[in-house]
Amino acid sequence: VSEAEFLSWLYAQKKSRADVLVDVGDDLAALRWDGGDLLLVGIDQVLDGVHFDSALHPAVQIGRKAMNRNLSDCAAMACLPVAAVVSAALPRGSGIEYARELHRGLREAGEMFDCRIVGGDTSAWDGKLAMSVAIIGRSAGIDPITRAGAKVGDSIYVTGPLGGSILARHMSFTPRVELARTLASRYPISSMIDISDGLTRDLYRICQASKVSAVIESAAIPIHLDAIRLSSQDGRPAIDHALGDGEDYELIFTTGSKVEESGCVRIGEILQTDDGGASVKLSGSTEPLRPGGWDAGV
Ligand SMILES: [Mg+2]
Repeated sequence: VSEAEFLSWLYAQKKSRADVLVDVGDDLAALRWDGGDLLLVGIDQVLDGVHFDSALHPAVQIGRKAMNRNLSDCAAMACLPVAAVVSAALPRGSGIEYARELHRGLREAGEMFDCRIVGGDTSAWDGKLAMSVAIIGRSAGIDPITRAGAKVGDSIYVTGPLGGSILARHMSFTPRVELARTLASRYPISSMIDISDGLTRDLYRICQASKVSAVIESAAIPIHLDAIRLSSQDGRPAIDHALGDGEDYELIFTTGSKVEESGCVRIGEILQTDDGGASVKLSGSTEPLRPGGWDAGV
């Protein structure tokens, strides 16, 4: 079963509730809270052999990535992170020093954004390292930006160069929390998502949620040097890496305004759907891009 199939089944199980403003199916959920502020909450899991390789990556880096993925979800909704709780299943015998280094990575990543670890649970088992971080944030004066607001005619932007993150960047990226808050306070951002699974796949998610299509200019897509390096190793065009690799943790956002913030590049435009079905196309091509990139597969 593909992840997409499982997710659409999961989304169909939703039951609406007045104080749940953003439900399952976006980067975080948003709940109405006392004082007019919204509480945003989400959870994200990292697994040895899937999101990192414990034989290759030191514990401090693994901890940092686990926290940063959640902070990137905060960025995706222009949410201010506040606190996190962590659950870790440690391989038996990994030792206290290893657990401390994991915690140091989590803590240091959180502290960059004044986000504290306020609780957690660890246990040891015969399996590999698995960690879940749940994050809690506040709207703090900025309405959460969901995936669902893209309008026909909006420009599509990304916040930085893409592709080849597997060479190292996927472990050491900086979540775009501050940039997202700046963008949301200066421009009418209609939708936003962070790129965890690849430009094509994550832009497709905006299109699905917003019931629109997208056309992107391949020449406009900022290509990371890592995508070019990886291309020289595996012979695949660098643009394919930029479109599909994922774990860039840059943001894709849409807006009717012209955005002039450092790092933000206009890559395309939101169009009407042809037949009610969302699609992402390269300009000049009639074939929709297959949403490649990362699929968890269940
Ligand atoms: Mg996300």
